[in-house]
Amino acid sequence: MSSEPKPRPTPEPPPLQLEAALQLLQQAGCVLPGRDDPAWPQAVIDGLCTLSSRDALTGLSNRRQFSLALEREIDRVARTGEPALVLMADIDHFKRVNDTHGHLAGDAVLKAVASRLLECVRPMDTVARYGGEEFAIILPNCPPAFGLAVAERIRRKVEQQPVAIDNGAPVSVTISLGGAFAPQWVRSTAALWVERADQHLFRAKAEGRNRACIEQPPQSQVSAEEKSLLFSTTQFEDLA
Ligand code: GH3
Ligand code: MG
Ligand code: MG
Repeated sequence: MSSEPKPRPTPEPPPLQLEAALQLLQQAGCVLPGRDDPAWPQAVIDGLCTLSSRDALTGLSNRRQFSLALEREIDRVARTGEPALVLMADIDHFKRVNDTHGHLAGDAVLKAVASRLLECVRPMDTVARYGGEEFAIILPNCPPAFGLAVAERIRRKVEQQPVAIDNGAPVSVTISLGGAFAPQWVRSTAALWVERADQHLFRAKAEGRNRACIEQPPQSQVSAEEKSLLFSTTQFEDLA
């Protein structure tokens, strides 16, 4: 006698972690409408998106958001040929700040540097905390002639405004910056672009810190006809 195979039990879906998510939002200071408000689901999604794209200490874009913005910028540069700059900035001798004044003072310095960076750039620029005391800035549409000026403006701003800390005199802070332009009319990768900016940051550190080193892109004159070649591949034929 043949026995019918027993149907497999459907696995239980994992529990929805809604309450945990709401707790995180509350802790981050996100104010939501009441649960019976039709705007509630959207507000929860928006709040979670913000939470997952921001650095908790400084409020800047986090590494994940930075990567997304960089990929978008690489697409845009390849499509439009517009210049774009990536700056990597690292606080000089930051370990000394922690060692001398404590971690809370170190955190205050990180927050202050973050807000100085934001004050120096345009709303369209992305300012991110890249890692511990390292920041990254994407500056779309930044012509090579302005690259060093922007980096110097940021460097001076940090140098000129010591950071107020609890229980002590304001702390003087400097940063070193390295910058590289996206290669125009060519598709780079996020890793290669950041690596070039990092090389200039290392140079700024090696040359004494509290300075900005920006790559000078080669001055190539690309004709309109050459630019049009980028779009004459088969994938763009439907746009012709
Ligand atoms: P350099 O000029 O070569 O960059 O020297 P540095 O001291 O800035 O660099 P180093 O890499 O030796 O030290 C970085 C320090 O940053 C060590 C680490 O404890 C501290 N740090 C990283 N993240 C945080 C944070 O979130 N808060 C605080 N207070 N310190 C942090
Ligand atoms: Mg450092
Ligand atoms: Mg560092």
